[in-house]
Amino acid sequence: MSVFTAFEPLAAIAVTPTGIAALRPFCLAAGIKLWVPESIVQPDCQSFSGSLRSLLPDLWQTHRGIVFCLATGAVVRLIAPLLKDKGTDPAIVVVDENRQFAISLCSGHQGGAENLTRLVAEQSGATPILTGASTRAELPGIDVLGVSFGWRKGEGDWTGVSAATARGETIQVIQEAGSTLWQEHLPAQHPFNFDVDYSERPAARIWISPIQRRFSPESDFPKVQWHPRVLWIGIGCERGTSSRLIASAIDRTCRAHHLSESAIAGIASIDLKADEVGLLEFCRDRNLPLRCFSSEHLRSIEVPNPSAIVAAEVGTPSVAEAAAILAARPDTQHPTPDTLLRVKKQIVREEGEAGAVTIAIAQSQQELIDRTGQLWLIGTGPGAIEQITPAARSAIAQADVVIGYSLYVDLVSPLLRPGQIVETSPITQERQRGDRAIDLAQWGLTVAVISSGDCGIYGMAGLVMEQLQQRGWDGKSPKVQVFPGITALQAAAARVGAPLMHDFCAISLSDLLTPWSVIEKRLTAAAAADFVTAIYNPRSQTRTQQIATAREIFLQHRKSDTPVALVRSVYRPDEQIMLTTLGELDVEAIDMLTVVLIGNQSTRQHGDWLITPRGYLGFGEESSPA
Ligand code: SAH
Repeated sequence: MSVFTAFEPLAAIAVTPTGIAALRPFCLAAGIKLWVPESIVQPDCQSFSGSLRSLLPDLWQTHRGIVFCLATGAVVRLIAPLLKDKGTDPAIVVVDENRQFAISLCSGHQGGAENLTRLVAEQSGATPILTGASTRAELPGIDVLGVSFGWRKGEGDWTGVSAATARGETIQVIQEAGSTLWQEHLPAQHPFNFDVDYSERPAARIWISPIQRRFSPESDFPKVQWHPRVLWIGIGCERGTSSRLIASAIDRTCRAHHLSESAIAGIASIDLKADEVGLLEFCRDRNLPLRCFSSEHLRSIEVPNPSAIVAAEVGTPSVAEAAAILAARPDTQHPTPDTLLRVKKQIVREEGEAGAVTIAIAQSQQELIDRTGQLWLIGTGPGAIEQITPAARSAIAQADVVIGYSLYVDLVSPLLRPGQIVETSPITQERQRGDRAIDLAQWGLTVAVISSGDCGIYGMAGLVMEQLQQRGWDGKSPKVQVFPGITALQAAAARVGAPLMHDFCAISLSDLLTPWSVIEKRLTAAAAADFVTAIYNPRSQTRTQQIATAREIFLQHRKSDTPVALVRSVYRPDEQIMLTTLGELDVEAIDMLTVVLIGNQSTRQHGDWLITPRGYLGFGEESSPA
């Protein structure tokens, strides 16, 4: 299951049959390799021979997370010799054999052990044990602040700043680049101060900037720096220029302008250079994207240093400056080049090295995240939190962003995690919600769009996928996953017994997007075919006639004593259930929070229950499996 994607490769280890039984179900469901001793190996497990101590160093090197089912003490002893750095060590989670607890043991923030622990706990029904300081304070950890946005951690006293946060001291934040979305979604009591007053000595400071700052060890308060990836390096070079010269030109230019190489988003050039060996090699070595533009496109950009010679050679007066600006420029805006260009064209040559590199650096408004974004379309069930599937719960807890109608987001608020971006909007703004979710996912974030019930039944899933299609989606990026939920008709049926036991259908009476003539035709067909029928969107304040007409249509095909259930706000605190008949149906009692279940000709009421026989021939006569 790909809610674990962020932690892959992920391994699990159990050394007893009970331990295997504890981890195996969720390992199987999530495609996680479960390592077990040769002597007790079981199907779908990976066996190891010899001691666990000799297996571990390999797993440690190659995995981002390891889940143990073993005593905490034993795990501590096993991993102690391998611990190096909380930035690179894998996330370690320990689960007990009874699956009562999942403990985040180490690499909590950076390694994501706390998130992994929440996930494992969700999947195995355990209680997560998290002891990180900012978990207590309901704050995103300082050392994970920019992870969703692809920011890179720079130099600084990370322990010092984290400690100041844990002590509840005020942390000054100076953000010069990158998204400020995170600032808008902090808890009311947060320690950050964004109004910079240089005359006051803060307890700690966070810089968010492409600038590479050197902090003096004598400084009297701790400082750290995050680098959002906003720098686009425009490169022009002679044929055959080596990757070494390109690297050296970039390094020197960045250093001369105090720019951090961690803030580099990518390299930009002219399409003639798309096969330039040195350039490709450099991009591969540094894992940077290369964006190439045509000479026509480059020609359209106004630059400070156009060159007639270059124009005569390649058809545009600028490669480095124009390409940097184009790469840094959002498609929709046209800011003046001056505001974007951080470093104007420089030409770098080196003694004894063939070729020359022209370099310019532009800064983009929006940082590069450099991940395939995810769109998770999630059904949250009818209302109560325990009616949400474990997969949907994990996904909600895991997403960078949660978007939904405010009422539904409130319902899932216990699942939300510190640092998550939560955007709510009024019920009517579905299209805007869809567009916003797609924008953020295209940027590289993991976005959960939530709908009540099932999101693919009169919910957001269809709308978002239609919008994606209109926007030229390739079906892959952003990656879409749909998480099913319990829809209103199932929830309502469960509360009144077993009314859906035979063939049934759902019809929405909302004629906002469907012509009434079509709805009427379907009502007639459903009534005539004796389907048990669930009516969604039955009646709003202004749309009152439809349900009366629906009743008349059903009365033409079914007896007036046909049982009907009006189920309002099912599984919510104000739930109301009313059993009636087609003949006595009071349409005034119905509103938009109601789903109406109309029985078929065999449905009967028994006390407070509705029962539709499994077969028309009577109970038990058909021997299909339950
Ligand atoms: N995606 C939702 C349906 C949204 S359409 C689902 O799968 O359930 C909105 C309609 O659904 C409402 O007008 C009502 O008819 C029905 N509905 C949704 N939640 C409900 C609830 N908790 N109780 C009763 N009806 C509900």
